[in-house]
Amino acid sequence: MRIIDLRGTAFPSDLQSLLPRPKIDTTAATAIVTPLVEEVRERGAAALYDLAERFDGVRPHSLRVPPEALGQALLNLDPAVRRALEVAIENARIAHTAQLPEPAATEVIPGGIVYQRWVPLGRVGLYVPGGLAVYPSSVVMNVVTAQVAGVKSMVVASPPQSRFGGLPHPTVLAACAMLGVDEVIAVGGAQAIAAMAYGFTDGEYRCRAVDKVTGPGNVYVAAAKRVVQAVCGIDSEAGTTEIAVLADETAQPEFVCADLISQAEHDPAAASVLVTNSSTLVDQVQGILPSMVDACVEKERIATALAGPQSAVVLTETLEDALEVVESYAPEHLEIQTQNALELSERITTAGAVFIGDFSPVPLGDYVAGSNHVLPTGGTARYSAGLNVTQYLRSMQVVDYSRSALRQVAPALIALAEAEGLPAHGQAAQVRFQGEVLPSVLEEVEGSVSNVAVRLPFRPELSEVEPYGAPMIDVPVRLNVNENPFQPNPEVIDSIAEAVRSAATELNRYADRDAVDLRQELASYVHAEAGVQVAVDRVWAANGSNEIMIQLLQAFGGPGRRVLALWPTYSMYEEYARDTNTAWVLEGGPGANPRELPRFDSEVFIAAMRRERPAVVFVPSPNNPTGESISNQTLETILEVAKTTGPRVARTGQPTATIVVLDEAYAEFRAEGTASGLELLDDHPHLVVTRTLSKAFAAAGLRLGYMIASPEIVHEVQKVRLPYHLSLVTQAAARACLQHAGTQMEQIALIRAERDELASWLEEQGFVVAPSSSNFLLFGPLSKRHEVWRNLVESGVLIREVGPEGYLRVTVGTPTENEIFRQALKEAL
Ligand code: PMP
Repeated sequence: MRIIDLRGTAFPSDLQSLLPRPKIDTTAATAIVTPLVEEVRERGAAALYDLAERFDGVRPHSLRVPPEALGQALLNLDPAVRRALEVAIENARIAHTAQLPEPAATEVIPGGIVYQRWVPLGRVGLYVPGGLAVYPSSVVMNVVTAQVAGVKSMVVASPPQSRFGGLPHPTVLAACAMLGVDEVIAVGGAQAIAAMAYGFTDGEYRCRAVDKVTGPGNVYVAAAKRVVQAVCGIDSEAGTTEIAVLADETAQPEFVCADLISQAEHDPAAASVLVTNSSTLVDQVQGILPSMVDACVEKERIATALAGPQSAVVLTETLEDALEVVESYAPEHLEIQTQNALELSERITTAGAVFIGDFSPVPLGDYVAGSNHVLPTGGTARYSAGLNVTQYLRSMQVVDYSRSALRQVAPALIALAEAEGLPAHGQAAQVRFQGEVLPSVLEEVEGSVSNVAVRLPFRPELSEVEPYGAPMIDVPVRLNVNENPFQPNPEVIDSIAEAVRSAATELNRYADRDAVDLRQELASYVHAEAGVQVAVDRVWAANGSNEIMIQLLQAFGGPGRRVLALWPTYSMYEEYARDTNTAWVLEGGPGANPRELPRFDSEVFIAAMRRERPAVVFVPSPNNPTGESISNQTLETILEVAKTTGPRVARTGQPTATIVVLDEAYAEFRAEGTASGLELLDDHPHLVVTRTLSKAFAAAGLRLGYMIASPEIVHEVQKVRLPYHLSLVTQAAARACLQHAGTQMEQIALIRAERDELASWLEEQGFVVAPSSSNFLLFGPLSKRHEVWRNLVESGVLIREVGPEGYLRVTVGTPTENEIFRQALKEAL
């Protein structure tokens, strides 16, 4: 390679003139391709056949590649190439999806909105070169980007090959087939750009003109894009490839040489440029380059490219000068192999794409990095960008002003219209306010400055939301939120008081962040209650099972993820989803017959899991508001399916498991002798059982909930909990409660008996009553449930208006409370 030694040279104002440039640049090539483009525009398909013969040495049978040829190419594709293309496609799809811009709605002034919409182009033409090498990777770069943008119609053009009977290269065809592209034309070079820009008809086939052509090519392709710009858009002038390597003395000479060679391999006209301040590196490169070139398959092409006027080693005094050289050169690809390469890269503003450090060679970007390889060349990177999804989108602004908003800006509009000598413009505003005196623009501005209101950054998704919801009304009989109607026993109260007193002496300290002692006692309780032994690392506690569940979504939900439940269900689940930005999916809904109460339908639920791929599902058992409990057999079926219904791993596409949250808030009220879902924990690392002291323990005011799960899940949840989330007082009081679990549970039998009695009574009154394993009953249907609910409140009984239309939910109270409820209900009806 020749050396351009800029040491000791003061850089001229036109530094470009000192840098290596090809013999034929795009401007020179434009003169050559203009008549070709004209010929295609005038003679259409006939010209395309002739030009194929002239430039590609073959006359295709038809310009459109028959669909069978695409299918056949895919069948014949080497499995290793197919897998490699899949990797390239997957990575490109991930990186390009991240480029999709968000639409915006901006309220410029109150009532005056400007929307920014992004609309995919209707039809695009994608060029895939194929002269000296085969470029299935260019199919990926063009097609994936256009598909991610949402383009509906696309045609791919690639040169006909005499070796393949006038079809484009079979690997290019196979890549098209893999991506579902079925419109491919065997047309190459400048004529392909013209063919897509103007459209043509060949027998039955009509190739409609496209809105934009994109894709890489040689200098003639780039020149043709410049020519057709009058009739369609182009991405950038992505012509003969270039690499510039910016290196200092820390660069590895073998890496530098290999990378210069790799781009030279594309084309004898390719440009490989090394820019460095290290004469040692120059010597090293010159020393090893010839033998490395010699070892290449395409050594002649490479040697020609490296020896050409477009390639050189540029030696500068300092690294700063070297940086100025590459900025001025504006290369298609820029590699930075220096100390602090990342830091240096932040100062680069003109490259098509930048490759940082020793392990990001340009061929990585050519194929599998996920970035796009269709990049501006010939210095056009100063003002144009590499291919990306926005190039297949148009932004469209939509203006929506209300009457008052227009009135507010009308004075400014009218003043500008008059200043431009276009009073009819102003009249178009004035006519809408006939008979009103609009203030002058100066008055209006003064007024609006003093009226500027402070706007709070409200989240739109909270705008219609009311805070959680069970009405709190001070009445004698409160059967509305499924509390235990009995006060804690006197000895429990004493223990709690004692424990809290002792905790108070240490209140100057934070509590145990991990609440280990409390979790240990919860483990013992679970053993006693459900016969399931668990180690402390499988237990986690928080302020109510509410907090447990929101922590689970903080850890496993979030943007781009879904959480699923089956209707009807506990209303807080939706709020956890909203608050963690997890998409909420509620499957199912009311049926036609109001006397038929919904049952948990595992088939419907499983189908939804398969369809939605939720990260988390909530399965309350017993369910609130129905009281229905789900058998362990059904749970096992769900858990089996859940092993693979979670979100897919982004890179590999492998399915993860769905976390099944079995909400056993009311488990202690289940029929005696029934198993708890806790028994399924050992075989199912994706099962979480949540429980609470709020219900059976008569400690709703304490706010203590817990979960039993695999240690991995507990560990993950620990990452998102606030430090010291469980106060010292809560931990002390909860431990005192747990010491009396035995006596506390004695009331449960009484509550169950009361529940069954109340259920029978309600049925005798003609109500449908959901079979309940819980401490509440759902009954109905009532034609005017709200009226009945209000009448009850007036008689001093508060129950809950939830669940299917026409139904009410009553918490089982003390025997006396239940009797008052029965009397009140009779009257309320
Ligand atoms: N799950 C269900 C099904 C519930 O009904 C409730 C309370 N009503 C909870 C969880 C939350 O209970 P806590 O936060 O009090 O533990």
